[in-house]
Amino acid sequence: MHPRVAKEKRIVESMITNFCIDIHKNPEVCTDCKELMEYADKRLLKCPYIEDKPICSKCDIHCYNKNQKDQIKVVMRTLGPKMLYTNPLDTIWYYYYKFIHKRQKLT
Ligand SMILES: [Zn+2]
Repeated sequence: MHPRVAKEKRIVESMITNFCIDIHKNPEVCTDCKELMEYADKRLLKCPYIEDKPICSKCDIHCYNKNQKDQIKVVMRTLGPKMLYTNPLDTIWYYYYKFIHKRQKLT
């Protein structure tokens, strides 16, 4: 696996896990969140730019379905501001996603 993909996978997984524990108040990741996680992983692994992955905001391919996109948007929006304090390095990823979704709304 490309290191960049591995990193992105790790961040997405940890965000969804935190989201489920914080918001869904589950001791373990619930089925919905697990599905979203698997979906995100699949999209990452299928990324055609895997060898030289651009940051997703620069990617021409919007690979998420509307449904999953909305779900991930909620996760990012909820956790983004929190992550600024707990995990500043990873927070940059939040802005990538935020940016993509903003751009997608316009098109
Ligand atoms: Zn959940």
